[in-house]
Amino acid sequence: MISIKNVQKRFGDNIVLDDINLEIPQSNVFALIGPSGAGKSTLIRTINALEGIEEGEIIVDGSSIHHKQTDINKVRTEIGFVFQSFNLYPFLSALDNVTIAPINVKKMGKQEAQEKGKQLLESLGLGDKINSYPSQLSGGQQQRVAIARALAMDPKVMLFDEPTSALDPEMIKEVLDAIRGLAKSGMTMIVVTHEMGFAREMCDQIVFMADGKIVEVSPPDKFFTNPDSERAKSFLSKVL
Ligand code: ATP
Ligand code: MG
Repeated sequence: MISIKNVQKRFGDNIVLDDINLEIPQSNVFALIGPSGAGKSTLIRTINALEGIEEGEIIVDGSSIHHKQTDINKVRTEIGFVFQSFNLYPFLSALDNVTIAPINVKKMGKQEAQEKGKQLLESLGLGDKINSYPSQLSGGQQQRVAIARALAMDPKVMLFDEPTSALDPEMIKEVLDAIRGLAKSGMTMIVVTHEMGFAREMCDQIVFMADGKIVEVSPPDKFFTNPDSERAKSFLSKVL
């Protein structure tokens, strides 16, 4: 579903993605973990062309993301992205945050978009918050609105960049539960996360990055008990 081939990305002289290769099958959930500065955010940002690449190719559901002839705006509608900072529109209600892109970008009728938006918000436990503004919602609620907003475009894949890092501890679970629900529904996902329990329990593969390289790709049981690389062992000794 997502195919990353020989990708190189530089910021000036700094190589931040160094020959990245990764194949993510449909309905798989991959966790992307590694130390600060490893290139995790940069890598997932290249997947929906928030960042360009110098070399290589990224294909999502048959579309070559960085190819000149690809309609990137269309491809972006098929790739949901959830950030650490929820990035909701502050002057729109929860429901309007969820419906604005389907109405403006997909040209969906307002009534249909609102029906769908309400259903999504309800499915994420926010049925009583559809008319609330972001400032009236907790961090965990805002992040679930952000997830609903991404899902409203019927994405083929979902990318998450540390979706719980800005949350108080008691709100982390509700957002992770929302992501768990998506995984069960068969969504293809990449989740950059520091939540090792979540990565271990939920993800099909752990991708460990350091210094712009993929150091190791292993199933969680192996990664967390007996990783191949010294770099991963040393990382785990600090975070577990
Ligand atoms: P963290 O866990 O702290 O979020 P990360 O693994 O997500 O780290 P990235 O944000 O992808 O790391 O950064 C990888 C490297 O690219 C770092 O050395 C960073 O300084 C550099 N970098 C990221 N964005 C830019 C930018 N816009 N301009 C220049 N350098 C950048
Ligand atoms: Mg990051």
